[in-house]
Amino acid sequence: MADEDGIRFVKRLLADYYRKQVGIGPERLDQREFGVGDFERKIAFRHLAFRSSDELRRYLAAEAPPYVSYSCSYYKDPAGRPMERKGWLGTELVFDLDATDMELGCQKLHGRSWVCANCLEEVKAETVKLVENFLVPDFGFSGRDMMINFSGNRGYHVHVNDKSVLALDSAARKEITDYISGRGVEMGEFFPTLGMRGKMLRGPRHADRGWGGKMARQFLADMNNGIGALMALGIDKPTARMIYRKRALIELGINNGNWDMVYIKDKAEFWKRILENQRVKQSDRIDKNVTTDISHLIRLPNSIHGSTGLVAKAVGSVADLARFDPMRDAIAFKGEEMRIKADTGFPLLMNGRSFGPYGGEIKVPVYVALYLYLKGHARLLGLA
Ligand SMILES: [Zn+2]
Repeated sequence: MADEDGIRFVKRLLADYYRKQVGIGPERLDQREFGVGDFERKIAFRHLAFRSSDELRRYLAAEAPPYVSYSCSYYKDPAGRPMERKGWLGTELVFDLDATDMELGCQKLHGRSWVCANCLEEVKAETVKLVENFLVPDFGFSGRDMMINFSGNRGYHVHVNDKSVLALDSAARKEITDYISGRGVEMGEFFPTLGMRGKMLRGPRHADRGWGGKMARQFLADMNNGIGALMALGIDKPTARMIYRKRALIELGINNGNWDMVYIKDKAEFWKRILENQRVKQSDRIDKNVTTDISHLIRLPNSIHGSTGLVAKAVGSVADLARFDPMRDAIAFKGEEMRIKADTGFPLLMNGRSFGPYGGEIKVPVYVALYLYLKGHARLLGLA
């Protein structure tokens, strides 16, 4: 197939897919701005609005755009332009977790555009951490007011639509994203007697809320993991040995806020390592930070992601996320086989099978063909 034929083939699949998506669209759909992309730009047109799910579905079936996004904000007039004319009503609190922001070891091997099973596991764990270590215990949000969606490529989006967040401005959202990223959290806040001679070193208890408790729990976990884990916190070997030997006593002390038996020489390193383990890794770049940008458009749940052919699937709760395998559960197009000419450096795991690496002509399921084609690793030759 020539490339125009490839694109036409993909558009036909998209049109068929959207025709069947009865009920597609977010809650308060008529107050959302929509944006759609083409094969060059993920958002080529925005300021679109629809009155009902059926109107949206018919539009998507007719246009078959490779990317569909919608606003995290609600507006009186979502089609109004410029932005000030829309009549802002509120914005969900949204977190965008992407494997490429995590500086994973596997990415050094396979590059940033390829997504391996490890990338997907790591970004899933980061999502669970955001919800279970921050959003629920520190902010008090409940699972009922949260929505977790697969991004369709290599990450997850977490939406909080608790009433208390809707009116927050960008500055307040920035504080939240700084907090979960551990920015501006200082060790001295939690150790008031640090560096004072003759004073007992008081510090956080494992049951404390917020960063104090996270710090204490991380230290206790590392201590129980042994001397190597303690040394990785910047503690020298003889001290690490001593701490490990007396761990039962030290744990008792820390549970009562007494850190006197923990001698930490390199405090900066200690603090850096604790933060690194506990913080949530979102993009540090302000222009890429979805949480603070109230005019951001985000992938529409259950739309198709034009860089993978996978569904940006609504996952549900954290418990559902544990069972969710995007490379199996987000496959949109099953059934047919296709001939492709592929060039891949690594095996692709999809639907419980391993495909490739390939260098040449091969027959594969249509979802594999589409994934490799849209990622730029294959040419479509035709249905088998
Ligand atoms: Zn990887």
